[in-house]
Amino acid sequence: MLGLMQDWPLLIHRIIDYAARQHGQREVVSRSVEGPIHRTNYSQIRERSKKVAQALEADGVRLGDRIATLAWNTWRHLESWYGITGIGAIYHTVNPRLFPDQIVWIVNHAQDRMVLTDLTFVPLLEAIADKLPSVERYVILTDRAHMPATKLNNAICYEDWIAAQDRDFEWADFDEKTAAGLCYTSGTTGNPKGVLYTHRSNVLHSMSLVHQDALRISASTVVLPVVPLFHANSWSLAFSCPMQGAKMVMPGPKLDGASLYELMEQEGVTMAAGVPTVWAMLLAFLQKEGRKLSTTKFMLVGGSAAPRAMIETFERDYGLTVVHAWGMTEMSPIGSLCAVKSSLSHVTGEALLDLKSKQGYAPFGVDMKITDDEGRELPWDGKTFGRLKVSGFAVTKGYFGSDENILDPQGFFDTGDVATIDPEGYMQITDRSKDVIKSGGEWISSIELENLAVGHPDVAEAAVIGIAHEKWSERPLLIVVAKEGRSIDRRNVLSFMDGKIAKWWMPDDVQVISEIPHTATGKINKLKLREEFRDYRLPE
Ligand code: ADP
Repeated sequence: MLGLMQDWPLLIHRIIDYAARQHGQREVVSRSVEGPIHRTNYSQIRERSKKVAQALEADGVRLGDRIATLAWNTWRHLESWYGITGIGAIYHTVNPRLFPDQIVWIVNHAQDRMVLTDLTFVPLLEAIADKLPSVERYVILTDRAHMPATKLNNAICYEDWIAAQDRDFEWADFDEKTAAGLCYTSGTTGNPKGVLYTHRSNVLHSMSLVHQDALRISASTVVLPVVPLFHANSWSLAFSCPMQGAKMVMPGPKLDGASLYELMEQEGVTMAAGVPTVWAMLLAFLQKEGRKLSTTKFMLVGGSAAPRAMIETFERDYGLTVVHAWGMTEMSPIGSLCAVKSSLSHVTGEALLDLKSKQGYAPFGVDMKITDDEGRELPWDGKTFGRLKVSGFAVTKGYFGSDENILDPQGFFDTGDVATIDPEGYMQITDRSKDVIKSGGEWISSIELENLAVGHPDVAEAAVIGIAHEKWSERPLLIVVAKEGRSIDRRNVLSFMDGKIAKWWMPDDVQVISEIPHTATGKINKLKLREEFRDYRLPE
């Protein structure tokens, strides 16, 4: 027997409708690309996103068409997402930090019909536009006063584009499984792969994550999404904030420590979300200037492993609760968060920091397992490493434009990460499967070594790669960057690590360089590092 509840499709525009009705005056504050701080609210965002939807339709955009955005976190970008999805078109977030050739590849693969771009990226697009035949129009996210002279095809300024519309428009109606968003993984190996979110997956993913043990977003929260909308679906924040009526503080193009600090203090930010590199910059600023955070209480950090020392400093010196999260584009993106379960509420001190350094447990909607190479499940003992596999309502089952089956026989997706899971369910990433160091048939976690090394007072950043070794097949090389004004003594770093890890995990050598290369999503670019150290030989 079927129940008698209403069919109420989980469509994204219902989120902005709700926000406008129940939290219409709640602010969305942005540092604009043009410079000044801009203030709007959910009521206005909804009105203007309706105009975006109308403008798209007037330009002939239809259900299923892809619309690229190359843009920072601002109110215009947010409006665009809701306008695009409101007619059943697909926002395709392009990461502007990618190499131009990769952007060309991605836009062509997605067959984007339009590009909505910030002023910042107009020169970049002008340089590649002749290689983007599918793009019929470029909308520059600015007003007439700031509109540049550009040769981009059919270019129009956003404010003029939407001003021509009258808002007399009903959101389109369609199946909740309709595609809503497209985000390509950065493709540090091989070509990028397109992950295609649905309305349903986005709504469910956001709904399942707002609570106290995850994003902690409520109507009284003031959220600073430093994580860009173009990075892994903005960790759901573009949906979960309006869904709860939280104030949003959008940092625009300025992500340096001083600019973020200014926004956090001026706007009363209570919750901030970003990758470790961003928080390292903020921390350096706070320490250098001797500042404190007066309103921020909660920090979400993920995208790469959060160093233990960073968690400790923010909690001890700045009074924050830091929650470490893990996920990936393919998971919408959040797959685990490290809140403390009540069974562990007695844990304190170093043991609590150890716990908080883990990537955490899966929220409702994510099933996890670890397996060996043959797909056999491995025990949750906190020691055994295995391939981390996941399934869930917001986990991908395939890539855009590809028929390849990427799931195992049980329907799980292989994350490419290697992890342990402890008896309490806490998962810890030990490596990406291609970065793990295979020494004498055993695995050494490059992440664990990196986290340990950045605890040294002279080390700003650390990366560990495997170097070919005749006897052991691979041995770890530690590559470090010194903190400003410090110098690094190789032996001193090694003796700092000695005793904190198994003897055979100790790096064979330490190399000091001036800068560690990063990928477009802020991760350590190990591929590049391995290239740079191709001719390097370990000391005897
Ligand atoms: P891309 O692969 O495009 O750089 P993703 O955000 O999809 O961007 O990357 C996902 C990967 O990032 C994960 O598979 C994992 O290797 C890594 N990652 C994300 N969060 C963490 C974390 N908290 N700790 C360690 N690794 C992480």
